[in-house]
Amino acid sequence: MDNTSESRLLLPITGVNNYKHYLDLDLDYLERRAGDPIGVENVDNSSKEEESPADSLDRVKVIFLGAPGVGKSSIIRQFVWSEFYEEYRPTERRETFYPSVVHADRLYELKITDLPTIPYFPVSTHLEWTDFRYYGLRSATAYVLVFDLSNQDTFQYIRTLREQIYEARDMRGVPLLVVGNKQDKLSGVVASGTRYRDIVNLVRKHWRCSYVECSARFNCRVVQVFRELMKSIQAVEGTSTPTPAASHQPLRSHSHESRDKCVLL
Ligand code: GDP
Ligand code: MG
Repeated sequence: MDNTSESRLLLPITGVNNYKHYLDLDLDYLERRAGDPIGVENVDNSSKEEESPADSLDRVKVIFLGAPGVGKSSIIRQFVWSEFYEEYRPTERRETFYPSVVHADRLYELKITDLPTIPYFPVSTHLEWTDFRYYGLRSATAYVLVFDLSNQDTFQYIRTLREQIYEARDMRGVPLLVVGNKQDKLSGVVASGTRYRDIVNLVRKHWRCSYVECSARFNCRVVQVFRELMKSIQAVEGTSTPTPAASHQPLRSHSHESRDKCVLL
């Protein structure tokens, strides 16, 4: 158990401690305000793992899930930073990305969470707290479930995960997008096989999910993944007041890194 985060979260706040607690939060806040609103926050330090003040913004929280090695991190990095690594570097801790996108004349600030492989989806808040603390699994605005088109066994992982997600929370108004990645490795034989057709049918007709095939390696249809995601999010937004991109709080001009960007979808 992590003592640092436990004491910050659970100890009653009194006297001097009370003051220090708020001081910590203020410093966090100032750090983010002065720093990088759009980039990545590598979070392995539990004292930083409380919901950051950035979360209080009206961010769209998107979580990528899927079996190990299917290309979740590659899709995100290709989209946010236009970079791709051939070698496999397993994601060992939560990583959070903050790109902004404009879709249908509206500005959205995304919070994309990339995670180590989760063995199951927590069915209760208690399990989320004990096993997946600070992953934000049960409070996501939307899920992107990724499998590898060249290794269709990886579909079984998202199939099971999807069932668990539906058991764990009310999914009305929570979009779920399925992505078949590594399209560059999808052979003609596999693409014309029944197994492949069954997967596409299941996702589109039975799950009624948006489905996109892409190749993170060649940056092929990666933008389409996010376009479909934003479409699904807009579709469930209902009556919330639209924020025209032009009148929304402007993106900070002092961007921390030159590769930070706002993507027009
Ligand atoms: P994750 O575990 O799901 O996050 O998977 P990664 O993004 O780390 O990718 C796993 C491996 O697959 C890495 O070696 C990547 O280079 C490779 N990879 C990711 N996307 C693609 C793709 O679209 N095509 C090909 N050929 N390889 C990919
Ligand atoms: Mg990864």
